Amino acid sequence: TSGLMAGKRGLVLGVANNRSIAWGICKALAAQGAELALTYQGDALKKRVEPLAAELGATLAGHCDVSDAASMDAVFALLEEKWGKLDFLVHAIGFSDKDELTGRYVDTSEGNFSKTMLISVYSFTALAQRAEKLMTEGGSMLTLTYYGAEKVMPHYNVMGVAKAALEASVRYLAVDLGGKAIRVNAISAGPIKTLAASGIGDFRYILKWNEYNSPLKRTVTIDEVGQSALYLLSDMSTAVTGEVHHVDSGYHTVGMKAVDAPDI
Ligand code: NAD
Repeated sequence: TSGLMAGKRGLVLGVANNRSIAWGICKALAAQGAELALTYQGDALKKRVEPLAAELGATLAGHCDVSDAASMDAVFALLEEKWGKLDFLVHAIGFSDKDELTGRYVDTSEGNFSKTMLISVYSFTALAQRAEKLMTEGGSMLTLTYYGAEKVMPHYNVMGVAKAALEASVRYLAVDLGGKAIRVNAISAGPIKTLAASGIGDFRYILKWNEYNSPLKRTVTIDEVGQSALYLLSDMSTAVTGEVHHVDSGYHTVGMKAVDAPDI
């Protein structure tokens, strides 16, 4: 194969269907010659992920629930046996009870706070621990975050607190792993209608708001996130680490509603 990712092998977690951000990333990587391994969360998603993996000639690395250490161990054992090494890792996973992605942050329960942090934040570190061992020739790790980490966004609530912790963990991991030429970055994506996003209250309003008020006057696609991920996962960005890169039509740069924005 040829392309920017020729000879590179990586694990992608977070494909649920063909609207997943992880799927946009997979397509961009495969088009540049990357060899991919995909996991799925439970049998319900296996049916969706299996044909998608086949479409890209990717390895199906089995079920992986990041709240279950044994299922992560199994995936890495399989990759160690099959590939012996790993060049990149994509973490496109987040979860919070949708009953708490509406209303007030102050009402967050301890149980959902802990679960949101475990699945949306700690899992990236847990995967990094395992991936480090296989990244013997350096590597690149990428996670997905959102502007709700930096500023209060309606209904994002505990997920915003989790994304802030995730972005901080990107910086700590970048320092810990930098000596091994392993880079760790995040993409802060603008809102995209996916399965996970459908759990957020008034998501359509958020999409419209971003469309009317971002410098580019539009929302972003999973393919555009994929192209930016390609940069961060390839040798195009060998001196970039600890970075949170916004792929959001420039929304994070504006401080106020656009003067010409229509009412929503
Ligand atoms: P998605 O629903 O397609 O993907 C979310 C994935 O998380 C699914 O594949 C699901 O199986 C996985 N997941 C949830 N809990 C898991 C667990 N315990 N173990 C393993 N996997 C688990 O939605 P998406 O929008 O593509 O989300 C991907 C990432 O992008 C998330 O981190 C999300 O917060 C982030 N993000 C999304 C948007 C957006 O607007 N859609 C914007 C910025 C960031």
